[in-house]
Amino acid sequence: MVRHLLYLLLVALLALVIVGQVREAAQPGSSDLVADSAASADLTLRAGASEDPAAGNSSPPAPPPLDSFARQGVRTRLGAEVDRHYLDSLFAETDSIVRHWPSGQAAIRVTIVPGGADGFTEEMVSDVRWALDVWSPASVGLRWLEEPDSSRADFIIRWADTLEADRAGVTDVTWDRGGRIRRALLVLGTRSPSTGRPLPTESRRAVALHEVGHALGLPHSSRAEDVMYPIATATELSDRDRFSLRLLYELPTGYIGAVAR
Ligand SMILES: [Zn+2]
Repeated sequence: MVRHLLYLLLVALLALVIVGQVREAAQPGSSDLVADSAASADLTLRAGASEDPAAGNSSPPAPPPLDSFARQGVRTRLGAEVDRHYLDSLFAETDSIVRHWPSGQAAIRVTIVPGGADGFTEEMVSDVRWALDVWSPASVGLRWLEEPDSSRADFIIRWADTLEADRAGVTDVTWDRGGRIRRALLVLGTRSPSTGRPLPTESRRAVALHEVGHALGLPHSSRAEDVMYPIATATELSDRDRFSLRLLYELPTGYIGAVAR
């Protein structure tokens, strides 16, 4: 009798464990969205800033992960014309994910939130509009659309007097598991991280241009003449900046590492 009860107890426990596992697997994955923090000083990955990918999302479902054939195709493409672009740093510096705004998304709704920092001046809004114009994503089928209501924005730009880790700007990009960018948040510093003095116009523009590049999905370049060089000084797009943006948007989004995960 005791043995029979023990057997029943064991079966019940096993059933509980199985139910627990099924429930966990069926939950919407909190790892569907990850966030990247890219700054003018460096590029760091911040995983786990996740949210429900279905919330407030009216765009089509994410594409399936790239198969090994497609991944190889993208790597071959990136291996060609290496002098004309810097997308190979997606392997060297980041997580081997090609990410960009969805091709079908004609407009990126941008909300510029003025103020928020003691050192803020109205000129800084002009710097940002200038940087948005310079990138002119029409070449890749996108356009900026100023959106007064930040709750409806895809891309929010704001200011802070100082940023962590001696940065002059930081861009958090959120993408889905298919590599499609859903949101971007750019915070610009108003003061030099090293001296605490107000940043001069040239520096503010160089940083804004660099950070908008990250918001479009671009990684860093290893050449100082490119806007996407980690220490931002360039205030004009180089041919490599333009070509890198075009090439990025010709690639399918998703993981392109050599080994499946
Ligand atoms: Zn950067």
